[in-house]
Amino acid sequence: MPSVNNTHRIPTTDLDTPPRLLLGPGPSNAHPRVLRALSNRQVGHLDPAFLAIMGEVQELLRYAWQTDNPVTVPVSGTGSAAMEAAVANTVERGDSVVIGVNGYFGERLVDMATRYGAEVHRLDRAWGEAFSFDEISEAVERHKPRVLLLVHAETSTGARQPLEGVSELCREHDCLLLIDTVTSLGGVPLFLDEWGVDVAYSGTQKCLSCPPGLGPLTLGPRAVERLAARKTKVPNWYLDMSLVGQYWGKERTYHHTAPINMNYGLREALRLVAEEGLEARWERHARNARLLWDGLGEMGLACHVDEAIRLPSLTTIRVPDGVDAAAVSRELMARYNIEMAGGLGELKGKVWRVGLMGFNSREENVRLLLSALAEVL
Ligand code: PLP
Repeated sequence: MPSVNNTHRIPTTDLDTPPRLLLGPGPSNAHPRVLRALSNRQVGHLDPAFLAIMGEVQELLRYAWQTDNPVTVPVSGTGSAAMEAAVANTVERGDSVVIGVNGYFGERLVDMATRYGAEVHRLDRAWGEAFSFDEISEAVERHKPRVLLLVHAETSTGARQPLEGVSELCREHDCLLLIDTVTSLGGVPLFLDEWGVDVAYSGTQKCLSCPPGLGPLTLGPRAVERLAARKTKVPNWYLDMSLVGQYWGKERTYHHTAPINMNYGLREALRLVAEEGLEARWERHARNARLLWDGLGEMGLACHVDEAIRLPSLTTIRVPDGVDAAAVSRELMARYNIEMAGGLGELKGKVWRVGLMGFNSREENVRLLLSALAEVL
């Protein structure tokens, strides 16, 4: 046997993370009950006790999304895994797709759909704006897409994409409606079935107040039909819902080992949503966002997004002229342990991003942030 090389055997201390208040675009702080649930003892991934937990997670996800879709599962991986699963399972090489790009995550959808061989037609808008029904309709008429992909809650800008009438348009053209709900699930009204959404995905780390690690995904009947009728296999084995769905469905066939404890955490996060009730939860997010917006206005700071389409879960604040955005974020962190992020892409250096998500959407957090920000500025 060769002698063991100890170069990488570094000395370490017990883990002691700083007490941050995560008021950026995510992750947000997990609810204490979720953190406790994560540390429950493990059972096997086919144990009857775990199968019961899986069923509860699925049912509570349906409640949170307001859907009856049987195929509603937490994909193993972060929101991006669910995003990629949504694309991989609905797009086939050569398919025409239309993607709304009004922020960073629309761009990412373009990248993913291109990698899966789609013929991508972009619908572009300035970051912070949303698409009108007429613009969407015109793009669908012109490109006859198989899938229309829209970001319901654009975390890079704080804009909400209205969806009125879009599903009827998609149905007329045999097109699936796929939406990103990573920053809306559990914080912003969503009625997937009422709105005729065929595919939606999300993440655990935002308004659900669970650490990053699972990516909820739901496929409606038209998406399931499309998946069954594919000419080619889903090119991504790990995210192939025709296989993963057999583990989460009646068959319980092994595909990969589910992240057991993450599912405990998600179950607790979803129980919290159900205990509070969606109406009360959405109202709490709206109320605390209003408090933030009013406070910012009193300080002479402007929000980047028009109020009619502004997300309560994510606010972009315009950086005043002459202020170094990154320096302000650094000071908030250094003095108050508050995380507040800067802008991405087109909005880099121009905005700050404040998330009031799930457990963090509380009046005391808004008041603390406003006074800390006033002092630092
Ligand atoms: N989509 C949106 C709108 C997001 O905000 C994010 C994460 O911030 C993602 C997708 C990807 O999720 P994750 O970073 O958890 O992989």
